Amino acid sequence: MMDLADISARVIACERCPRLRAYCREVARTKRAAFRDQEYWGLPVPGFGDPRARLILVGLAPAAHGANRTGRMFTGDRSGDFLYAALHRAGFANQPRSAARGDGLELRDAYISAAVRCAPPENRPLPEEFDHCRQYLLEEISVMRRIRVFLALGALAHRQLVRALIAAGRIEPRARFRFAHGACDRLPGGAWLMASYHPSQQNTFTGILTAAMLDRVLRRARQCLASQQPSGHAAGRRPAGAALND
Ligand code: SF4
Repeated sequence: MMDLADISARVIACERCPRLRAYCREVARTKRAAFRDQEYWGLPVPGFGDPRARLILVGLAPAAHGANRTGRMFTGDRSGDFLYAALHRAGFANQPRSAARGDGLELRDAYISAAVRCAPPENRPLPEEFDHCRQYLLEEISVMRRIRVFLALGALAHRQLVRALIAAGRIEPRARFRFAHGACDRLPGGAWLMASYHPSQQNTFTGILTAAMLDRVLRRARQCLASQQPSGHAAGRRPAGAALND
């Protein structure tokens, strides 16, 4: 029976998107000057976190000099610094910093995945690359049976997450979910689909996403996890206030 370790192994070996694989290898070969002495990961990046998580966060894709360098989701760049600090404040991470694989970081009841597992040029995957990579997110959703909160980081990840949830049979094919920061939609079966602006430098440096805003989203996720509401087919919107763990 498939498990997260199987999925991660296939992600790491994947070559389905020639453009992305070539780009990741080239970035790993040429490197950024500040990381000249480091060995880049350069491979597709698997999900990271607690295999029994009830919260899954879905980002867009690895950053060229972040996760593509370190081999772990949101690790080694400013976006990751911002996100893991928030996860730590919310009790989903054992430490606020995420510098490299093997740094002791563990997620608690949370797992981080992405719509695309290879760093794309200019952070823009092509439609067919989203299509190729959706299979892995779908598989993670399928084997992680405890997930109760799906949190999309950014509009593009939100769209891909909705597609994966449709493919997984978790929501109706015609279901429509609009992206908005703080959105919190009830899904059939008692789960929740939430959304936040992506913690990119572009958003966090400009104040589009502040630490307080992300904290409110994660607090709301906690509330959803704690709620004992019966499952059903309601879909009302309510305002919101990868590798396994090393
Ligand atoms: S983006 Fe996904 S599907 Fe494409 S090569 Fe990377 S791991 Fe494979």
